[in-house]
Amino acid sequence: MGKILMTTPLVEMDGDEMTRILWKDIKELLILPYVELKTEYYDLGLKHRDETDDKVTADAAYACKKYGVGVKCATITPNAQRVEEYGLKKMWKSPNGTIRAILDGTVFRSPITVDGITPVIPAWTKPITIARHAYGDVYRDVECYAEKGDKAELVISRNGEDKKRIEVFDYSDGGGVVLGMHNTDESIKSFAKSCFNYALDVKKDLWFATKDTISKTYDHRFKDIFAKIFEDDYVEKFERAGIEYFYTLIDDAVARVVRSNGGMIWACKNYDGDVMSDMVATAFGSLAMMTSVLVSPDGVYEFEAAHGTVTRHYYRYLKGEDTSTNSVATIFAWTGALRKRGEIDDNLSLVGFADRLERAVIRTIENGYMTKDLAAMFKKEGVTVKVQNSRGFLEKIAETLKTV
Ligand code: NAP
Ligand code: MG
Repeated sequence: MGKILMTTPLVEMDGDEMTRILWKDIKELLILPYVELKTEYYDLGLKHRDETDDKVTADAAYACKKYGVGVKCATITPNAQRVEEYGLKKMWKSPNGTIRAILDGTVFRSPITVDGITPVIPAWTKPITIARHAYGDVYRDVECYAEKGDKAELVISRNGEDKKRIEVFDYSDGGGVVLGMHNTDESIKSFAKSCFNYALDVKKDLWFATKDTISKTYDHRFKDIFAKIFEDDYVEKFERAGIEYFYTLIDDAVARVVRSNGGMIWACKNYDGDVMSDMVATAFGSLAMMTSVLVSPDGVYEFEAAHGTVTRHYYRYLKGEDTSTNSVATIFAWTGALRKRGEIDDNLSLVGFADRLERAVIRTIENGYMTKDLAAMFKKEGVTVKVQNSRGFLEKIAETLKTV
């Protein structure tokens, strides 16, 4: 049987440490034997980012814009310790931050569910996807301490002249803290569009929640922008797809999600998304089973695993010790990208291959072959767990792939 051909390349962004090792093995064992892989390759490994003064990261993001689909390996975000470890010219910014700034996207994170790993909330039989608005609010705030006797005011000015001046708090009785935060219509609109488009794409209900009853201008703006875009452009498309847009208050949303069977996309403001994505990931089992896709408002898709470069395992690998690192989320980043490439290009064989590879991964685990992190969580009648090392797990998947 010949290999599956690709008409258009996808953007491949290599990364760092343990995930860079998995990346090479995934391609060698699971993809290259079946697909005549066409990628435009960018090495986002920290060494190469440093050599190119981080230009390679921006180049990769622009390539994603050009081709519409990318797949990214986890990368190191340098801190002071990394600057020393790699002898860096500079403490380069987070590659994900740079890419997101260029593509202006929303990140959707979903757990990969497997029979035998029961979520902490057993009613969650379907994955819950969190969409986090990754701009503004408390992440771009200004804040300070005000002393007793001070007064904090919110001032809107134009050309140095006050247009509005609102008292925030009078600290006559004692000092305290104050913060100012912002968001923009533009950013909220593109968040809303990404969410509506993604919901249509994967045919899942979209939920959104804020605290608009308390925050009557700020949060209410989010609610209104979502409602307007939905009314103008999506009502019929959602009807045709048989999905719903549902808005409620954030505390009501939390209560309903906990009581639900899952299966929805939950759009969250920045802080809610930060908190809820960790809760959902933990409840579904493991960060190593969480995929992540950045979707831009104009329909560019960039897939990756939600976890990092798994540094602790990499240091063991460098010492020649055995590792048992879970490659599932990285494999699903590849299948996500290959499927999307196939959908855009009308390449049914490629879409079919992505489905097959995902089935092979899930079946391998359900047959008891898994990495160490999953072993403690896995319980299935009549199946004994056989813990694999990093490479061994991929070899088992490769065997299963021949049979699905
Ligand atoms: P991490 O790489 O996600 O790993 C944290 C711990 O979680 C690991 O030590 C391991 O626990 C467990 N873990 C995560 N993924 C796993 C997998 N696939 N298989 C098995 N266990 C897994 O986070 P980190 O150690 O905080 O960050 C390491 C580096 O990654 C940092 O340089 C950071 O900048 C970068 N990072 C990149 C991204 C990204 O590119 N999207 C995201 C986050 C972090 P045990 O050691 O207990 O086994
Ligand atoms: Mg968080």
